[in-house]
Amino acid sequence: MSIKLYNTMSRTQEEFKSIEDGKVSMYCCGPTVYNYAHIGNLRTYIFEDLLHRTLEHAGYKVDHVMNITDVGHLTGDGDDGEDKISKRAKETGKSVWDIARFYTDAFFRDEEHLNITRPGTVCKATDHIQDMIELIKKLEANGHTYVSGGNVYFSIDTIDDYGKLARLSLDDLKEGARIEVDSNKRNPKDFVLWFTNSKFKDQAMVWPSPWGVGYPGWHIECSAMSSRYLGDHFDIHCGGIDAIPVHHTNEIAQSEAASGKKPWVNYWCHGEFLLNDKGKMSKSTGEFLTLSVLEGKGYNALDYRYFCLSGHYRSQLKFSFEALDHAKSARESLVKRVAELKKSEAAAPGEKASSYRDQFFAAMENDLMAPQALAVLWSMLKDKEVSDGEKLSVLLEMDEILGLRLDEVKAADEGGSDIPDEIRALAEERTAAKKAKDFARADAIRAELKDKGYLIKDTPQGPVLERV
Ligand code: AMP
Ligand code: ZN
Repeated sequence: MSIKLYNTMSRTQEEFKSIEDGKVSMYCCGPTVYNYAHIGNLRTYIFEDLLHRTLEHAGYKVDHVMNITDVGHLTGDGDDGEDKISKRAKETGKSVWDIARFYTDAFFRDEEHLNITRPGTVCKATDHIQDMIELIKKLEANGHTYVSGGNVYFSIDTIDDYGKLARLSLDDLKEGARIEVDSNKRNPKDFVLWFTNSKFKDQAMVWPSPWGVGYPGWHIECSAMSSRYLGDHFDIHCGGIDAIPVHHTNEIAQSEAASGKKPWVNYWCHGEFLLNDKGKMSKSTGEFLTLSVLEGKGYNALDYRYFCLSGHYRSQLKFSFEALDHAKSARESLVKRVAELKKSEAAAPGEKASSYRDQFFAAMENDLMAPQALAVLWSMLKDKEVSDGEKLSVLLEMDEILGLRLDEVKAADEGGSDIPDEIRALAEERTAAKKAKDFARADAIRAELKDKGYLIKDTPQGPVLERV
């Protein structure tokens, strides 16, 4: 097993060595569930899934933990603004708990459609308040905190390497002073561990604590939950690059100050942004696309997964419908090829097929070079010296990482096709409605299918779906 990963901490590509033989402990910052995830957020989770699958394919058992931020994430990273979930609750007239539940479910629906492996541990911030309080108590006992204006702050001047991940210079640290608004802070880069005297008098989610009734800061959540499940030294921590200067910087400060052990995490891996015409896709600008919008336009979620595979995770990726159309037609022709290949029995790869196989996995193990890996896949498909059976067995193994559900494709002579599950389910619901003589419902489903780009035809052999 030789896996290379780019480590943001060292700014170099490093040979991956796990702390424990054969096991990887990995923590990924999860979604803040106040709105739908946009396809930029989902790009980050696809990258983390590729990493998970690559490690697993290489023989590691992956202990993957992801949190759900359902409290404490403010609209501004510098402890300014409002709690995102409370704000949304006020806007919609729903309770904070309903908002969090609804968008958590929507997030997992998206992950399911994208065939993202569910992390072994998914933990909600609101279920771990006590862990956070214990961690803050430890920081307090170690002399890293102060209370000001009713809030508990982490004092960055009590450690000597604050900002090492982002390589913040003294100038960067001073920069904060000019924009900082919280006069309770001794140093503008200090950050809140626990809010009591909040500017949000009507905050719905509050808990008792030694410092008064209140709620946690965002950064302490990840430090507390990761150490709860992975201990105070683990292998990999992931997220999007926007987490580097504040969120991950503060996580490191707290976790290392609490345990006294360094480094807390061995490899920091960050995914680059998905861009739209105006730059980074972001929820705050209101201009973002969700997976359901793509699906509503007739794309399969896996078209988007394929689109993400066509760019390296550390490069920015520009989204356009034209590029998504390319990904869609590439994925569909791959599915068609697999349906053809499935007419043959899978066969053990000979020398040539094995060499494609090895090149593919070498590319993925070289800091997840998915575009190169896809190029190897297509070269193998074109190669006449590799038999269909060999191609099939190698492709299915490649798909353990690609996650394009090639194993579910039916052989062409068994009517293999590429109809999304959601569309099939609708067609089945229509058949059931017809059987129950609910013709209004059956017609409504036919219209819905048409909107989604599918025609349903009743034939003597039963209903058949076709793309419009
Ligand atoms: P959030 O739900 O806002 O906490 O974000 C979830 C994840 O998406 C974080 O790891 C972010 O760094 C990441 N992220 C946010 N915007 C983008 C984007 N435009 N492209 C890729 N990842 C993003
Ligand atoms: Zn985090």
